[in-house]
Amino acid sequence: MKRPIILHPDPRLKKTSDPVTDLSDDLRDLADEMLSTMYDAPGIGLAAPQVGVLTRLIVLDCVKADDEPPRPLIMFNPEIVAASDTLNTYEEGCLSIPDQFADVTRPAEVDVRWIDRDGNEQREGMDGLWATCVQHEIDHLDGKLFIDYLKPLKRQLITRKMQKLKRERARA
Ligand code: ZN
Repeated sequence: MKRPIILHPDPRLKKTSDPVTDLSDDLRDLADEMLSTMYDAPGIGLAAPQVGVLTRLIVLDCVKADDEPPRPLIMFNPEIVAASDTLNTYEEGCLSIPDQFADVTRPAEVDVRWIDRDGNEQREGMDGLWATCVQHEIDHLDGKLFIDYLKPLKRQLITRKMQKLKRERARA
């Protein structure tokens, strides 16, 4: 089942999400639904606050090539435990801010720790698009959007476009 994705601006996207203390079947179902929602959008990452749930859960799959098998990742309580000094700039977008893109600079490599769908702790070094994506999604759990990295003027411009889009959608 798919879930509707919340669009910026929305107070739920500015909140800090709560850690998972009990990995219930409901949370596993939510994670599976988030993956279907993400693939359907289509997108490469989705955080629980984007579907209105303020829980520290993200899903991602940054495999881009058609000839590569998909790699869906479900992360409960994801944490960046180390980040490289080397930086990388990617043009980022967000399913909560459709059709708006901007360059964001972040650490090029990160060490990530999380709890997987089976409740096991995982740890992995990520680079390239994976590193950018996982940092973008974890930011969502702290109420932070990629446009928060932009200069105020650019951020306001995007927010005004989004307000207009939401008004149009509400009328449709
Ligand atoms: Zn996003």
